[in-house]
This record gives sequence, structure tokens and C-alpha cells, in this order.
Amino acid sequence: MSGLDEAGVIELIACGELPRSDILLGIGDDAAVLQPPPGKLMVLAVDTLNEGVHFPKDIEPRDLGHRAVAVNLSDLAAMGATPAWALLSLSMPTAEADWVSGFAEGARRLARRHDVAIVGGDTVRGPLSVCVQVVGFVDPGRFLARGNAKPGDSVFVTGHPGDASAGLAVLQSGGGDNRLTDRFLRPQPRTDIGRAIAGVASAAIDISDGLVTDLGRLAAASGVRLVVELRDLPLSEALVDLMGAGRALEHALGGGDDYELCFTVEPGRVPALDHMAADWDCGITRIGYVEVGEGVVLLRDGKPCPDTSVQTWQHFPKASS
Ligand SMILES: [Mg+2]
Repeated sequence: MSGLDEAGVIELIACGELPRSDILLGIGDDAAVLQPPPGKLMVLAVDTLNEGVHFPKDIEPRDLGHRAVAVNLSDLAAMGATPAWALLSLSMPTAEADWVSGFAEGARRLARRHDVAIVGGDTVRGPLSVCVQVVGFVDPGRFLARGNAKPGDSVFVTGHPGDASAGLAVLQSGGGDNRLTDRFLRPQPRTDIGRAIAGVASAAIDISDGLVTDLGRLAAASGVRLVVELRDLPLSEALVDLMGAGRALEHALGGGDDYELCFTVEPGRVPALDHMAADWDCGITRIGYVEVGEGVVLLRDGKPCPDTSVQTWQHFPKASS
């Protein structure tokens, strides 16, 4: 392994950069020069991941690169936007070529899968930390937000919430790679689904901090109450097998890092959603409905249940050390 200077790091990150015709100048100049598509709205998101807070210390560089891009793409998916460009800032104590090339490959591979080009970056010496900014586009009037859910709408979620936080628990207890750890280490942003539901959903959010916490944000932004029926939560077989039904439910409700989409749909648009969803591998599940009120109410077989077992996710808790 050899140490790299800043130019060496940037060269590794730039290598194999996806050519997009809207990039007039990409990595290598003082700044990128880009041509936004005419008539579209720009949608921007930025996220910083710090070692020991947002990812475990011994994470593989490739997984960290993937994750840093994934969490940002997930935010754009929740807006119904099509991602296009990303900027990447990397702080690290030493710049080892093997580490940087693994990181760059993880970031680039996921970016390319979503037709996103890394158009610029920065690197500094310091504690391990990654900051990614993404830019995407959406047609005017077609972006999703948290604030438009209406009483009577249904609440849907993609995939299987809880798998990622259970995967983190497996990693923290020294377990090896499996389907659950894969969901934590390599979350798959729901870009295509976000884009597809932009004309159908009334409100949307991505689940980063836990289903109940993020549903609470959507409820607050919309000024409504979300009612969730626990028996309808799509617990994965892998999650229930590993944790048992009770703890599986806690992970699904309170675990973070899922990067699934949660969204509301008015009754008249549910058939259109069902039609589209037939093509989505991760699946979607109706988990509840919207009513007048505030907050999130959990039902067990139709009856309100106290959510005392639900712990909201607090940015990578103590167990990380
Ligand atoms: Mg988000």
C-alpha cells in the first residue's frame, strides 16, 4: 500500500467517470460546469457520514463508498427526482491507495447504476468522514414532499423495514455477511420507485432514522395522523428467523438505515400504484392509513397499542465502540 496525495485520490475517484452529455467540465478543474435540462426543477441533497457515528469503524471501504452515495440517492428518491450528478468530499487520516480505490469503486459503481456522475470532489486529512452531495431533476409540479398527505390516504412502504438495523446488530456482535448485513452495508436506493410514484403519491419520505420516527415527520409536515397496523408490517423471513417476532417488530418500527420509501396514496390512485408495483422486486405493502389528528398511532389487530417497545434510532448508538 502506498500513500496518495490529493491529486492521486482525485484521480482514483475520477477514474472511469460516467460520461454524461450534460457535463461540460467534470473532475479535474476548479469546479464542475454542468448543463441542467431545460424546464426542470433542481433537487439537491447532502449528507455527511462520520466514522463511529454513521458507520462502524471496520467497514469495508467499498461498502462505505456505496453507502455514502446510497443515502443521498435515497433522499432524492423520496422527492421523486431523477439523480444526475454528485460531489464527494472525503476526510481521512491517511490516504492509502488500496483503501481509496476500494472506496471509489463502491461509490462509482452505485452511482453508475443510477446514471449519476461524480463531477467533483475534495479530500482533506482528518478523521474519517464522507460528505456527498447529489443533484437531480424533476418536472415542475411532479416533485414529492412530506407535507401533502390527506385523511383517507393509504400508507405504503417499500421492501422490508428492520432488516438493516438487524444487520447492524449482527455486525456489532461479530457476525458475518448475510442478507440482513447486506441491507445495512449496501442499501439500495429506491430511485426508480420514487420517480414512478411522483405522479401517484400524495406525500413521501425515505426511512433513515426508523419507520415510526420518519412517519412522525411525515405526519407533522402534513398536519395529519398516520395509523399503522402492526400485523401488516412486511417483516422479512430473515428478520423474524434471526430475532423472533417481537424483536423483529422493534427493528421494523424503530431501527434505522432502511432507506426504504414510505408514502401515502389517495384511494383513487391505489389501482394505478398496484399496477406499477407489480414490476418492483422489493415489493410494496400497505401498512396503514391517514386520518385527522397528529402523530403516529400503532394498532395491534385493530386496537391501539402503546409503543413503549419502540426506540427511535439515535445515530449509531453506544454499541459501536
Ligand atoms: Mg431523508
